[in-house]
Amino acid sequence: MTTATFFDCTFNLTRGASAPGAAPAVRRILIVGGGTAGWMTALILARSLIERGVEITLLESPAVPTVGVGEGSTPWLRGFFDMLGIEEAEWMPACHATYKCGISFDRWSTKPGFERYFHAFASMLDNLTLRQFVHNADARVNGADVHAHPDRFFVAARLATRRRAPKAPESFPFDVWHGYHFDAVLLGQFLHRKAVERGVRYLSCHVTQANLAPDGSIASVSIRDGEPIAADVFVDCSGFAGLLIEKALRTPYVSFSSNLFNDAAVAMPTPIEDAIPSETVSTALRHGWAWKIPLTNRYGNGYVYSSSFCTQDEAETELRRHLGLLESDVEARHLKMRIGRVTRHWNKNCLAVGLAQGFIEPLEATALLFIQQTAATFVEFLEKGDLGEEAHQRFNERVNAHFEGTRDYIVTHYKTNSREDTEYWRANAANMNLSEELKQLYGLWMSGKGIAAPVGQQVLGKGYPVFSWYSLLAGVGIFPEHKQLRLPNAREGIYKMAEIDDLIERSSAHFPDHRAALGHIPPRRTAPSLQAYFF
Ligand SMILES: Cc1cc2nc3c(=O)[nH]c(=O)nc-3n(C[C@H](O)[C@H](O)[C@H](O)COP(=O)(O)OP(=O)(O)OC[C@H]3O[C@@H](n4cnc5c(N)ncnc54)[C@H](O)[C@@H]3O)c2cc1C
Repeated sequence: MTTATFFDCTFNLTRGASAPGAAPAVRRILIVGGGTAGWMTALILARSLIERGVEITLLESPAVPTVGVGEGSTPWLRGFFDMLGIEEAEWMPACHATYKCGISFDRWSTKPGFERYFHAFASMLDNLTLRQFVHNADARVNGADVHAHPDRFFVAARLATRRRAPKAPESFPFDVWHGYHFDAVLLGQFLHRKAVERGVRYLSCHVTQANLAPDGSIASVSIRDGEPIAADVFVDCSGFAGLLIEKALRTPYVSFSSNLFNDAAVAMPTPIEDAIPSETVSTALRHGWAWKIPLTNRYGNGYVYSSSFCTQDEAETELRRHLGLLESDVEARHLKMRIGRVTRHWNKNCLAVGLAQGFIEPLEATALLFIQQTAATFVEFLEKGDLGEEAHQRFNERVNAHFEGTRDYIVTHYKTNSREDTEYWRANAANMNLSEELKQLYGLWMSGKGIAAPVGQQVLGKGYPVFSWYSLLAGVGIFPEHKQLRLPNAREGIYKMAEIDDLIERSSAHFPDHRAALGHIPPRRTAPSLQAYFF
């Protein structure tokens, strides 16, 4: 029997795990940076620490804007708001937010029947059909002509096709995991208001430098027009600048540029139609891929590409062509990205969160999840009073494993592409800068031995659950050529697709139209906190 870990929206924050009433070792925390990372971290820390007398201050430079992109999430964001007791009915309208069932990957594969697939946020309901999907995928890798494209096995895929919301009525016994799309700037403003309401102090000022203590930790930060500010813990949320973790503490940085080539993006909005989609679409273009994210008032679009393979102007023109905006004067925003991570996210008395700790390109919209997990794990350590060198090591190993597992999942999208239209795609397919775990995984898949057990046991499973790996490899059609397939034997052909279609159809019929659901967002319902299912 194998175990598949599902997306779960709950957090294991052990509030008050240290002796009740004990004074925390840390009294003053200073967060540098007021982007999404800064405010999410402030709220996560505040939830646990403010009532225990810890002072939390956030500094933001009036001169340095936030990155202003990052409009899609994983289902974990739901856990973030639930943990803070903030209702969807409050934050979603304030941020023009929509529901997200998953991501459609379009034109990443040229294999007939596999040109598009949906990476669903799977949940309990899919337990009814997941076993069949994995069974069929394993059988097809072994040469049996059975249906193994993921889309027909996931309720979320059907909901996305029909532009339905992943919100069932109260009477429906299953909860469905889902993510969100939102306006990044409005989300930042919303979180700012909430954090200040909950006792976080805010100062608008530009940090000019960090001042080190004799032991090499950070003693204070100097600011323009004011006295230096001291604290016990400094949280670096200064974005790609990495002011504290890299510039002050000189923490080494591991670049992922040999694994993932994209280092730039260009973004522009388009109008949204009446029927709002409940999915992100990721379309492979000539030198990267374009995102299309539906909000209630617009689409956010962008092209993530490699500047080694195309210029900024070429990328903008290609995106405009893709969106039908060649004649339009809608403004384009160009961004640079640095892909990789610091070696130590918690170094001395500095915690790096968000772009300052590292970034894996936005293909699966994982950055906010890293923010949540890094901040929540740090609270877990603080709560236990676990602050020594050995704790730093465990903490950093945990965060690094999450980064590596996620990186390898993203790398797999590029490695398995079958496009041959540009040097960019050919170079990605030929790229042998792969982790050992990834090489083993591909070997197992190709040999038809199944990958559920190794993913569960390895670092790869720290990034993505088993069904996601199956969805990706099956979704782009990593199977024998169609003409090499044979009739399935009795054991391989046990599942009838008509029955699976029927199950999915009956389940999805309970879910409402997406736009209608956004007009009547219900109060929070308690999500079952099941973390793992057997199949
Ligand atoms: C193209 C692109 C697409 C993305 N898409 C997604 C997505 O779909 N989903 C997702 O989860 N993530 C996505 N991300 C990542 C996401 O945008 C970020 O993780 C998130 O916005 C957090 O950014 P941040 O707060 O770390 O940095 P920033 O937003 O850059 O904030 C940095 C903060 O530091 C402050 N600062 C800087 N210097 C100083 C100084 N000297 N003194 C004081 N303050 C200072 C700035 O004023 C600012 O407030 C994407 C990123 C890019 C580049």
